[in-house]
Amino acid sequence: MNKTGTVYLVGAGPGDAGLLTLRGAELLRRADVVIYDVLVNPELLRLAPTTAELISRGSRTTDTALSQEQINALMIAKAREGKCVVRLKGGDPYVFGRGGEEAEALADARVPFAVVPGVSSIVAAPNCAGIPLTHREHCSSFTVVTGHEGASGEESHFDLDQIARIPGTKVILMGLKKLGELTEGLIARGMSPETPVAIVRWGTTGRQQSVDGTLGTIARLAARLDLTPPALTVIGDVVKLRKKLNWFERRPLFGQRVVVTRAHTQAAEFSNRLTELGADVLEIPCIKIAPPANLHPLGDALLELNAYDWLVFTSTNGVTAFFDYFYKGFKDTRDIGGVRIAAVGPGTAAKLRELHLQVDLMPEEAIGKKIAKSFSQYESIENLKICLLRAQVANPDLPQALEELGAIVDDIPCYQTVAETEDANGDAVRLRAEGADWITFTSGSTVEHFHARFDLPMLLGQFPQARLASIGPETSKAIEALGLTPAIEAKTHTIEGLTAALLKAEGKKK
Ligand code: SAH
Repeated sequence: MNKTGTVYLVGAGPGDAGLLTLRGAELLRRADVVIYDVLVNPELLRLAPTTAELISRGSRTTDTALSQEQINALMIAKAREGKCVVRLKGGDPYVFGRGGEEAEALADARVPFAVVPGVSSIVAAPNCAGIPLTHREHCSSFTVVTGHEGASGEESHFDLDQIARIPGTKVILMGLKKLGELTEGLIARGMSPETPVAIVRWGTTGRQQSVDGTLGTIARLAARLDLTPPALTVIGDVVKLRKKLNWFERRPLFGQRVVVTRAHTQAAEFSNRLTELGADVLEIPCIKIAPPANLHPLGDALLELNAYDWLVFTSTNGVTAFFDYFYKGFKDTRDIGGVRIAAVGPGTAAKLRELHLQVDLMPEEAIGKKIAKSFSQYESIENLKICLLRAQVANPDLPQALEELGAIVDDIPCYQTVAETEDANGDAVRLRAEGADWITFTSGSTVEHFHARFDLPMLLGQFPQARLASIGPETSKAIEALGLTPAIEAKTHTIEGLTAALLKAEGKKK
């Protein structure tokens, strides 16, 4: 029989994936099973090995949700199979999430367990709304209460007498439905109706929403906005500091929902930049990189690399794919020989430099004639052997233009882009339900595949506020082919250029 595995109750943090602890990340990376709650950021699941079994606890509003008893039984059963089980819970596992009960069940069953604390929404959500829970000039304590209580999940009544009497900041979790009852009760018990109050919803994430008012006004404001969980309420003078400290919501792209359509393996740089600028990023990769249908040409090219005068890379995907195959055959980078290297565009060149390969020639633009021209300015390519390492379906202009200059060209497919239809993070569902402010495209193929999946003109009909952002003329052409016009096109055709164009467009609007 297997040795019993350990169950780790891991705090996933309040929503922003960056707020998971290093210990939590380490455990996720070696989990065999991950059982996660609805409020957990799905991005974190990507840390788990691809072979890990991912089990959603499900939403309590649907019938498919697992009961507490089922969760406990599942953790115990998986551990007894000898597996490393991560039970991933929102915020801190021991704050209002029944983590204590889960640990008790494990202790009773004599299953080894450990608990990894998490950043609780109690501190994190007010923080990201510009509210320090304590401040020397305002208060020196805070109290946390919840609208729900008890194992049955039934709603309890606030002990209003007690809450009204306690000095300091008050944080109320899960109490949205009872907000009117709560605020009226506190005023009736002597608290000033002018006491500042803020509600923070989806705190720390790009979808954060906050409302402020007073004990007298907040319930009406919240009802008007029809706020739904997850949200918490902060009551106290510290709420006033929001005016000065709300850096999070003042970032330039805050409140903008931006769709990133790049392949997942390439999306991180762009998504991270947008998130840092405050955007609510929906990462919906519509393409993924797959091996070419026929690997023989690449295999042959690898065997006669020394016969080439030039290797030409036109994209970072080409670089990654080529070297993946190269290192399957060779152990030593020197096996690439004395061949010269050309990279089209700064991104491609940077990828090669990461591999400690210097680029001899870097044509800026991905246009066949212009690339050929920069070759001819560098040296005569007549009778030189050039190996193009590109996508399976690629523009014939480039080999033609090089052949016109007398070069002998091998056009070698290293990868192909295929449609991505998975929705690993649930962002495609969010796009269909809530729309977006910007949909960004970084290549013609992202446009085509996004359209195949969402019907772009129909989506824009449904969400007319959504605008299209294009990285450059080739991408814009693909958008125009659908009878649509991009609202912006990047001046420099890089992620940085596209980000700058978005910032400019948003700056203009304000
Ligand atoms: N263990 C969690 C709390 C679980 S109870 C923690 O430590 O944060 C769930 C409640 O927490 C929600 O109803 C809401 O009141 C609050 N909450 C969780 N995440 C939140 C967030 N990102 N923003 C605001 N409130 C949040």
